[in-house]
Amino acid sequence: YFNSKTVIYLNGSFVKATEAGTDLYSQSLHYGYAAFEGIRAYNTHNGTRVFKAKAHFERLKRSCQLARIPFNWDIEDLIRQTYKVLELNNLKDAYIRPLVFCGPNMSLSAPAKVSIMICAWEWAAYLGNDQLKVGISSYQRPNPKSLPIEAKISAHYVNSILATTEAKSNGYDEAILLDMNNNVAEAPGANLFIERNGKLYTPPTGNILPGITRATVFQLCKRLDIECTERVFTVEDLKIADSAFFCGTAVEIAGIKSVDEVVFPLKWQDSLGATLARTYKCLVLEKQNYEVII
Ligand code: PMP
Repeated sequence: YFNSKTVIYLNGSFVKATEAGTDLYSQSLHYGYAAFEGIRAYNTHNGTRVFKAKAHFERLKRSCQLARIPFNWDIEDLIRQTYKVLELNNLKDAYIRPLVFCGPNMSLSAPAKVSIMICAWEWAAYLGNDQLKVGISSYQRPNPKSLPIEAKISAHYVNSILATTEAKSNGYDEAILLDMNNNVAEAPGANLFIERNGKLYTPPTGNILPGITRATVFQLCKRLDIECTERVFTVEDLKIADSAFFCGTAVEIAGIKSVDEVVFPLKWQDSLGATLARTYKCLVLEKQNYEVII
């Protein structure tokens, strides 16, 4: 992720990653009290462009608000600093990680000092390009009445790490987590769509992270005239789907081969997911203003 030359943005300055530090008494380190984003930049026909930068930084702001972490930065300025991080590190295709974290405070009350950092590195599609073998996790997504699940808060990712580690130790590539009502929710770091009889379905917001790629899939479906709706569904519904895929900034669009041992009948290349994956790739490389795409 970094080497001795890597430069990050930290509270208004650019500093070497190896020289930047944080406080061991930070609330973020002890309690997971921090908010972050995952963004991608693509080397487009029009130079390096940060995909849906505004939507991501707006979600970061909303995550902080939902977590009661003060957010006093200007989004346009953060986008400018993000481009500068890419430039200083000579990155054209990159994964970008902004993190809002808290200063020293061992109490459980709101932080006195809040910092922001932005780093970036080259990262291939997070789950690779093969069809994924997926297992239903024994871990549920956190109850939204306990934690604001629509916020991208560091502590939520303990749940994601547990589910991923469990899935890998059971021989799967990835997990799918259910929500507190035992309906299908999402993957540890991606949203999920299923295809059935030529239509797409995805769980509604409320118990999932409202993904920016998920929103892009809706936009692409409109463009491609594919029917796509939000619907609550169970593991049984998932297992009788024709095909399924994950979507997220890091994973992009990744096809699912099987859930537990049930293999989806539709070949990936014939699925709506594959059509969307191809269109997504074209979209991110197009000379477009990403904020007003399609
Ligand atoms: N759900 C979870 C739990 C995630 O961590 C992510 C990745 N940010 C997503 C869904 C997909 O969100 P996005 O498309 O905005 O990356």
